[in-house]
Amino acid sequence: MDFAIPARMQPILDGMKRFMETEVYPLERHGGRFVDLVPALKQQRERVKEQGWFAPQLPKEHGGMGLSLQEHALVSEILGRSFLGHYVFNCQAPDAGNMEILIRYGTDAQKATWLAPLARGDIRSCFSMTEPERPGSNPTWLETTAVKDGNDYVINGHKWFTSSAQGARFAIVMAVTNPDADPHARASQIIVPTDTKGFEFVRNISVMGHEGSDHDSHAEIRYVNCRVPRANLLGAEGAGFLIAQERLGPGRIHHCMRWIGICERAFDLMCARAAEREIAPGKKLGEKQIVQEWIADSRAEINAARLSVLHAAWKIDTLGLHEAREEISCIKFYVAGVMQRVLDRAVQAHGALGITDDTVLAAFYRGERASRIYDGPDEVHKIVVAKRALKKHGVTA
Ligand SMILES: Cc1cc2nc3c(=O)[nH]c(=O)nc-3n(C[C@H](O)[C@H](O)[C@H](O)COP(=O)(O)OP(=O)(O)OC[C@H]3O[C@@H](n4cnc5c(N)ncnc54)[C@H](O)[C@@H]3O)c2cc1C
Repeated sequence: MDFAIPARMQPILDGMKRFMETEVYPLERHGGRFVDLVPALKQQRERVKEQGWFAPQLPKEHGGMGLSLQEHALVSEILGRSFLGHYVFNCQAPDAGNMEILIRYGTDAQKATWLAPLARGDIRSCFSMTEPERPGSNPTWLETTAVKDGNDYVINGHKWFTSSAQGARFAIVMAVTNPDADPHARASQIIVPTDTKGFEFVRNISVMGHEGSDHDSHAEIRYVNCRVPRANLLGAEGAGFLIAQERLGPGRIHHCMRWIGICERAFDLMCARAAEREIAPGKKLGEKQIVQEWIADSRAEINAARLSVLHAAWKIDTLGLHEAREEISCIKFYVAGVMQRVLDRAVQAHGALGITDDTVLAAFYRGERASRIYDGPDEVHKIVVAKRALKKHGVTA
C-alpha cells in the first residue's frame, strides 16, 4: 500500500491550489446568480487553458491531461473547494459525464459535432433522464418515448431536473425505444440539439429558494413531437440504461472528491472561527470541548471518506467499474453524509453568520442537501451494499 501522492501530480496540485485561492475564490458571490459570473469565469478558463489544465479528466487526444481516475480524484478535491472550480477547469457535471460517454459511444460525426466543442469549452450540454411522474431512483421505468419515423426519432415526454439545460447546446435524452424488451433494455440515449422544434424549456426549478441560472440550474423540459435524425442515437438502441450506469460510476468519484473539497474548506473555516471567536473576554470558542469534538469528528470522518474514495478510484482504474460497484455505492452515501455533518458543524460554529451568505458555508449547505438524492438516493446505494453482504449468507431478498 502506498499512500504517497504520485510525484508528477504534486506540482500540478500545488499550482491548481494556488490558482484556486488567488483567481477563483475571489470571484465567488455567495447567493448571487451564476450567469453574472460567466464573463469573468470565461477569462479564467483561458488562463487554465494556458496552464494546460483544461478538461483534466479527458484523454490527451481530446485535449485533456490524460489523468487516471485516481489522479483526477485528487484534482477534483482541490477544485471542489469552490463551487466554481469544476466549471473553470471544464470538468463540471453534467458535461464531464456527457464527454465521457461521447468518447466511448459516439460516432465520428457525433464526436466532431458535439464532443470537440464541449472539450474546448465552447458549448455546454445537459442530461435529461429524470421525469416528475416516475421515480428517478428506478430509471428502467420511464414514460418518455422515442418512436422511429423514417430516418428520424420522434420524442415525446416530460423531464425535470435536467441540470444546466438553460444555455445548453444539446441534451442527451433517455427515452423508451423498445417498450417490449427486458426492462433494462427498453431505453436509449439520443442527442437532441436544444434548438430542435419540440424541445420546450418550461422553467428553471426553484431549489431551496434559488431558481438558478445558466450552468447552475435545473430545468423542467417538455419534448413535444421532437424530431431528430436516427443518426443521433448514442450507442446501441436499448443500451440507454447500461450507458447511464457507466456514466455514473466515474461521475460518483468526481462528485465524492468534490464533496471532500467542500468538507476541507468548511473544516478550515470552522477551525479558524473556533480559534478567533471569543465567547467571553479572553475565552475562545475552540477552548470548549464540544467544539473540539466537532473538529476531531470532522477530521476523522473526512480522512476516512477520502481514503474510501481514492480506494474506489484505484479499484476502477485497476479492476474496472463492475468490480468496484460495492465501493462506489459505499462512497456515494457515506461521503454525502460526512459532508452534510461537517457542513452542519461548521455552520453551527459560526452561529448566525453561518446561515448568511457572508461566508461560503450557506451556499454549500443549501446546494448540497441534494447530494443524498442525485446519482442514486442513499437508500438505493445502501440496498446494493447490504444485498451483496447478505447474499453471502443465503439471503437473496
Ligand atoms: C440537484 C439535482 C440535480 C439533478 N440532476 C439531474 C440531471 O442532470 N439529469 C437527470 O436526469 N436527473 C437529475 N436529477 C434527478 C435525480 O437523478 C433524481 O432526483 C434521483 O434519481 C431520485 O429520483 P426522484 O427524485 O424521482 O425520487 P424517487 O425515485 O421518487 O425517490 C424518493 C425517495 O424514496 C426513497 N427511495 C427510492 N427508492 C427506494 C428504494 N428502492 N428503497 C427505499 N427507499 C427508496 C429515497 O429516499 C428517495 O429519495 C437531479 C436531482 C437533483 C436533486
